[in-house]
Amino acid sequence: MISITTDYAAVSRGNPRPYLRRIAEAGFTHIHWCHQWDSDFCYDSSEINAISRWLKAYGLQLLDLHGSMGPEKNWASHRPHERAAGVALVRNRLEMTAHLGGDAVVMHIPSGPPSGALRRSLDALQPVVRSTGVRIAIENGQFPSIITLLSEYPPDFLGHCYDSGHANMTNGGGIGGLDQIKDRLLVVHLHDNDGQRDQHKLPFSGTVNWPSLAKTLAASAYKKPLSTEANMGCHPGMTETDFLSEALSSMEELDAMGRKPNLVV
Ligand SMILES: [Zn+2]
Repeated sequence: MISITTDYAAVSRGNPRPYLRRIAEAGFTHIHWCHQWDSDFCYDSSEINAISRWLKAYGLQLLDLHGSMGPEKNWASHRPHERAAGVALVRNRLEMTAHLGGDAVVMHIPSGPPSGALRRSLDALQPVVRSTGVRIAIENGQFPSIITLLSEYPPDFLGHCYDSGHANMTNGGGIGGLDQIKDRLLVVHLHDNDGQRDQHKLPFSGTVNWPSLAKTLAASAYKKPLSTEANMGCHPGMTETDFLSEALSSMEELDAMGRKPNLVV
């Protein structure tokens, strides 16, 4: 059982159906919903129902979903009306995820120490998390602010999304960052880079220490299928079929690494 992001083809707008079909044909069983991850788009029930039908038709399951800190509906905004609209946008994604059978919504937070505005939004969303059973997973970013928030809010409300590419960059915190909060890990964004730029390359094609990450993931709270956020836009020259096949096998390889006892790092 392996998952991939729905925007693997560097397209996160428009009709998602063709990508769902190709994901299923490539042999994936799960998806990380990443369409509209950075927009103010609010999903209507008619759209959520259509997505539900497509997932059933293709035999796919929603693992988790990337929520949006939209350009104007922004849950961390200091402008009250923008923040209220941002909270409504996160609520939309929590309810969508619950309807589609996922268990977590990934959210970004601004750099720097968590603000009062962000905390007010988190407080406002606690009843929605309780009623939907879908938790919020804060993506790295900077680990210190995530660690602060995780210390302030309970595990049945707030957790962590580990992005292996973000962590691999200069000052990204590395696998050691994850190690500090691995008991709160809810979602994974697994991809690779050269340590300099956020490239979203296929795992094992950059400088991420995958054996070390496999060991940390195996010791973490994360028990769901592995999920890649690799993007074929970073692999010009590869066909879509080859990219999806490589993405699947990279996750299977990582999965096998994590199951090996006494893994030498
Ligand atoms: Zn990510």
